[in-house]
Amino acid sequence: MDIAAILRDIHETVSQSPDRGTVADYIPELARIDTGRFGMSVVLADGTQHSVGDAARPFSIQSISKIFALALALGRLGDRLWTRVGREPSGLAFNSILQLEHEAGIPRNPLINAGAIVVTDAVLAGNAPREYLGELLRFIRAAAEDDAIHINESIALSESETGHRNFALAHFLRAHGNLQNAPHMALGAYFHQCAIEMSCEQLARSGRFLMGAQGHPRLVSPGRVRRINALMMTCGHYDGSGDFAYRVGLPGKSGVGGGILVIAPGRASIAVWSPGLNAQGNSKLGTEAVEMLARRTGWSVFG
Ligand code: GLN
Repeated sequence: MDIAAILRDIHETVSQSPDRGTVADYIPELARIDTGRFGMSVVLADGTQHSVGDAARPFSIQSISKIFALALALGRLGDRLWTRVGREPSGLAFNSILQLEHEAGIPRNPLINAGAIVVTDAVLAGNAPREYLGELLRFIRAAAEDDAIHINESIALSESETGHRNFALAHFLRAHGNLQNAPHMALGAYFHQCAIEMSCEQLARSGRFLMGAQGHPRLVSPGRVRRINALMMTCGHYDGSGDFAYRVGLPGKSGVGGGILVIAPGRASIAVWSPGLNAQGNSKLGTEAVEMLARRTGWSVFG
């Protein structure tokens, strides 16, 4: 299979697309990103990597960081994490507060904002955000085998100044006794983890530990890899998760920076970036690109 040729075709197709979606403008620093950008990178099980477009250009991984935080939290707490957060798709927007009141401060899953704030809070456990962020960066750098991966401070600051919905969620969690740290501490850590930057090349390499193939970094057990992939499949695209599963058929996690990490178990780790988003806050052309890749390669977890 000629992945390089498939990526070139995908790049050509998306570059002709008249509708590139709209950037997330609720984080001012993200509103300035050019929607003309597009990058994609695929690491195959044999270790070869193929990339196209702006695949070397760093972008804000935003909610994709929730996967790495979840891996750390499961390592630290194991199944005790599930007393504080559920494992069901929410069917609501990533930053919705609606269910949280009905369900007494237990977020539906670890990949919506409320759930991710609980996950970060659980790993933080009274330590300084700096220590948590150091641990998270060490995990990601080990996963990607790249020590250059870093946090963009101006994006973290931009979100700290405007992230009122996340403050509302954190205070609400705290009111229900489901936040151990002060809201500004948990959110300081959360905003900084969202502001980690990676290129598609780095992101695809960082996802290899979820591929379950020999010869790649093994940072979590095979059983846990399956669980994380299951959560990505059911919850990784919020209220667009069913549509993503239907169209792509692979577990994926999106971020409002326009990136998506997609895992083809046993076969590939895939990263795509196009900053324009669809109505659910997931990369519009990024989704179309992985849909084309899945169709051309036949990769699917559904047979
Ligand atoms: N930092 C963003 C937020 O909390 C992440 C959301 C996302 O990427 N979907 O709003």
